[in-house]
Amino acid sequence: MFYSDQKTPDDLLKEWTEIEESRAIPLDKSLIKASANDLAQQINTAMERYYPKNVPQTGYKINIASDVFLLKKVASSGTVEISIVVGFDKPENKKSLIAYSGFGKFKGGNDPVISIKLNNLFTADDWIGFFKSGKLEDALFTELLHELTHAADVQSKGGIDNYGKNTTNIDLKTYYNDPHEVRAFMQEIVDIVLKTAPNFERFMPKLSRTKIIQLLVRTTEVWKKAAEYFTDSNKNLIFKAVVKALDDHDLLTGSKTNG
Ligand SMILES: [Zn+2]
Repeated sequence: MFYSDQKTPDDLLKEWTEIEESRAIPLDKSLIKASANDLAQQINTAMERYYPKNVPQTGYKINIASDVFLLKKVASSGTVEISIVVGFDKPENKKSLIAYSGFGKFKGGNDPVISIKLNNLFTADDWIGFFKSGKLEDALFTELLHELTHAADVQSKGGIDNYGKNTTNIDLKTYYNDPHEVRAFMQEIVDIVLKTAPNFERFMPKLSRTKIIQLLVRTTEVWKKAAEYFTDSNKNLIFKAVVKALDDHDLLTGSKTNG
């Protein structure tokens, strides 16, 4: 109906009951949003204060913004401190605000850190514009949500020694189907779908749950980028997590119940 180019999510959806429960790792999104906002402000201030207008950031190396995120421990009480540092780097995709982000450790240390590299092809003026339009904060939020999912995932399994992978030399199918990545991209997709679902309310009486969910998931940038690499069972997990999240938020109540 809306899309014809995809493999058979209808078949995948039918198999749901046979698959273990799937749900995005719970994270405090208001804290992540506050952190993204703080970082965006720091970047904007640095651009306004230190950089002459229209000077490209190419090759710029030092960190221009940082924060510490207190991640709630999963198994016990208390928090884990995750450092966040933002710098610049050369992007793979010229148009993307973010060149790279990763979760790991500082060199020679044990403290967990999220490193976000901004696209160094943009000018100071560009960054000030991205700050004003809210694009910068949104982009930082998405990166933090993804990397903090790794952090939560890893700390729940007993330490970051288990993780810390260089993704530059592995193929994309391996990368996207790594269980850590599946959970992080699931997190991103669930977040976007929860934000866009209210816009699809007028379709709900006409479409089945399956169609609505397909529509919501497939219109996300993450899905467009990654769907060709995900295995069917991982697609299934992601669809299932989306349904769970939509149901948790009462966002599928208007749809036809069959199918
Ligand atoms: Zn990742």
